[in-house]
Amino acid sequence: MPVASDDILTDGLFKVLFEKSPGSILVKADLPVFTIAAVSDAYLQITSVKREKVIGKSFFDVFPEDKDNPDDENTARKVFTRAIDTGDKIDVPVYRYDIRNPRTGKFEEHYWSCSNTPIRGAGNSVEYILNTVVDISGEVKAKEAAIESENRLLLAAEATGLAIWDLAIPPTHFSYSPQLVTLFGHQPGTRISLSSLRNQVHPDDVPNILVRSYQEALEGGQYDYEARIFWPDNSLHWIRMKGVVLYNNKKRPHRMLGTVVDITESKRDDIRKNDFIAMASHELKTPLTSLKAYVQLLETKLSDAGDPFIKTALSKSLNQVNKMTALVHSFLDLSRLEPGKLQLKRSVFDINKMIEECINDSRMITGSHALVFKPGDPQNVNADREKIGQVVSNLISNAIKYSPKGSTVTITSGIADKDCVEVSVADHGIGIKAKDQEKIFQRFFRVDDDDKKHISGFGIGLYLSNEIIQRHKGKLWVKSAPNKGSIFSFSLPLANV
Ligand code: ADP
Repeated sequence: MPVASDDILTDGLFKVLFEKSPGSILVKADLPVFTIAAVSDAYLQITSVKREKVIGKSFFDVFPEDKDNPDDENTARKVFTRAIDTGDKIDVPVYRYDIRNPRTGKFEEHYWSCSNTPIRGAGNSVEYILNTVVDISGEVKAKEAAIESENRLLLAAEATGLAIWDLAIPPTHFSYSPQLVTLFGHQPGTRISLSSLRNQVHPDDVPNILVRSYQEALEGGQYDYEARIFWPDNSLHWIRMKGVVLYNNKKRPHRMLGTVVDITESKRDDIRKNDFIAMASHELKTPLTSLKAYVQLLETKLSDAGDPFIKTALSKSLNQVNKMTALVHSFLDLSRLEPGKLQLKRSVFDINKMIEECINDSRMITGSHALVFKPGDPQNVNADREKIGQVVSNLISNAIKYSPKGSTVTITSGIADKDCVEVSVADHGIGIKAKDQEKIFQRFFRVDDDDKKHISGFGIGLYLSNEIIQRHKGKLWVKSAPNKGSIFSFSLPLANV
């Protein structure tokens, strides 16, 4: 502990040094007066007082005590007294003491951080207290503003039913807004861990959705998925997670921030809609099958009738029935896309043979385009033959639909890299603008151009195809330029990998 010599205050050098020191005031330990013995220029400036008005005065005449908070242990009087009693330096990291602004004459909110060092005299008793203060009003106000803006954000999020979360990468730290707890069916205020939340996710959605989305987020910077969760009462709910990845200065992902919202109601609506579509398409299938059988029967019976009109009329009817059957099937598939509903019936087959069959079927339906197949070597895939056939037929029928009559559609197959086969369908049609190329794989999306209004469709073919390919762990993509044509390609893992 510092010791003051008796003549310390008459030493000119000490005086100069003290007066130039940062916010300091030297107070005598003459309880209860606490006479001010010396004060630095900086202290005078931050407290807006004049030296001649403070030296020799009681500290509490200059800085009146706040009598409203008798229990506050951090008041100057209590802190000075404690420093004298214990002989220890006492720090007060933050306290509020308002200062009158000399220009306006009004008191202004101020926050301070101070330390109080007892200084012993020759007789070893505490003679002075050195009080050093720093004005930390700026820091405190900035922190308050940050807390206020965070609170405002939390309130807004809560009002819209959103929960906010923050996850470190790797997941060593996880924090969340209170709403998250109730979104997962717990009582407000319950403490939950990341692993307990994960345990609530439907077991099928953990590998397919959670793990996949996390990996995709690390690669692409965006986190977005829908998943099913079980509440503690065992009821099933749907949530939507959205987030972004933040990177450190080494450009490595180090945090993920995002929101969760309960989408159970809209999912239930979706499921009801899907169930309706499934039921309606199923009901339509039976009359269509019998209609097709009768038209085929009529075709055979009347093939020798010699009336060319009947022949063409029946063949056209059969085409329309086939088109409608394909449509009804795609609606049925659409309704089965809910997780767990689209079952793949895998078998090992040569993809080239299957493509040939699809091309032949398409030739039967339309003769307006030249369909050219350029197969690579035979390649076996382990996939759902019917569903992959549906994808190829859909790409061919789109190529025909969106390109001029008489033009050529070229289908190619071959090895892309050592583990995958790649199939492409190229046309010389109207093409797709860059801004629409991402969207065409979304459900019900159709390009909204005047020149395409007359081309019929529901915007489900590519969505379905993409889902089917993704569930085979393959990829579907497009390269296209307006008025030049499009190349739709997909890749599939080979059977032996
Ligand atoms: P639909 O053809 O029934 O509208 P799809 O899901 O098959 O639905 O296709 C979505 C949209 O993508 C189409 O509406 C069309 O605008 C565009 N599209 C698909 N294939 C092609 C193609 N080969 N050329 C140009 N546009 C295409």
